[in-house]
Amino acid sequence: MGLDVNAVWRYAPVERWTSGAAAVILLTFDVDAETMLLGEGGDRYASDLSGMSHGAFGATVGLERLLRMLERHSTPATFFIPGWTAEHHPRCVERVAAAGHEIALHGYLHKPPSSCDQDEQRAEIERSLEVFERLGVRPVGYRAPVWMTTSYTLEQLGSYGLQYDSSLMDDDKPYLLDTPSGRLAELPPQWYLDDGEQYLYLPYPGFDGVIQRPSSVADTWRDEVDAYRAIHSLLVLTAHPCLSGRPARVRALESVIEYAESLGDVELARCDEVAARLLETPEVELLQSRPGE
Ligand SMILES: [Zn+2]
Repeated sequence: MGLDVNAVWRYAPVERWTSGAAAVILLTFDVDAETMLLGEGGDRYASDLSGMSHGAFGATVGLERLLRMLERHSTPATFFIPGWTAEHHPRCVERVAAAGHEIALHGYLHKPPSSCDQDEQRAEIERSLEVFERLGVRPVGYRAPVWMTTSYTLEQLGSYGLQYDSSLMDDDKPYLLDTPSGRLAELPPQWYLDDGEQYLYLPYPGFDGVIQRPSSVADTWRDEVDAYRAIHSLLVLTAHPCLSGRPARVRALESVIEYAESLGDVELARCDEVAARLLETPEVELLQSRPGE
């Protein structure tokens, strides 16, 4: 049974990574910054200077520290940046772009599409695109805030010239899907590959997770690298600079990169590169046809 979306779902033949890699890792960073709170309640949290500063760290100190770490390894990455973050921290966008990394959409105020009506869903994307256009950036990818997308948002992405989505969890291999606005590559994320589940703690609004030891988190992720190599798949690792930009956590993430490099058969890539590769794949296995066919 497929999802309730007017789309054709297909697997991409990931066993044929053209690079010959056993697995591909996408290092993705969600620069939620203050929108981590603003998207949850707007003005309710805007006056909380401490909570807002927790987010601002991600667009400033944490971001710089992670960029330096990536530069040490010449590791490409994708940064999903909410439009509000880009508008209020334009330096963040400049730094990421200047370092050669990809910038992709992540809502405007980090509102999950599933909590918005259709007009609001379009506005979250369109407002972000306007901000990035002013900053000279043309995103080709999208990740729903909190990975809570809708069939409506998914079906709109192609009309904005977007080529991939990274929000769905019905597989741990990448695949293609056809929507009324065009074909997309889906690069599936997962909560256990998200640093938010390991590190996020604020006394509100329900961000009350148990903070994990960075070395334990790195152990978990290294296990996943091994497992993804065995199935020749695509490991989408998600980190937030406001969380993973702290010192021991940067070292933990760096140790995972070093481990991947040491294997010799794991490729680290940007989302747009992998999406383009999938979209160029001539043969795909049809899993579900259009309703009525
Ligand atoms: Zn986010």
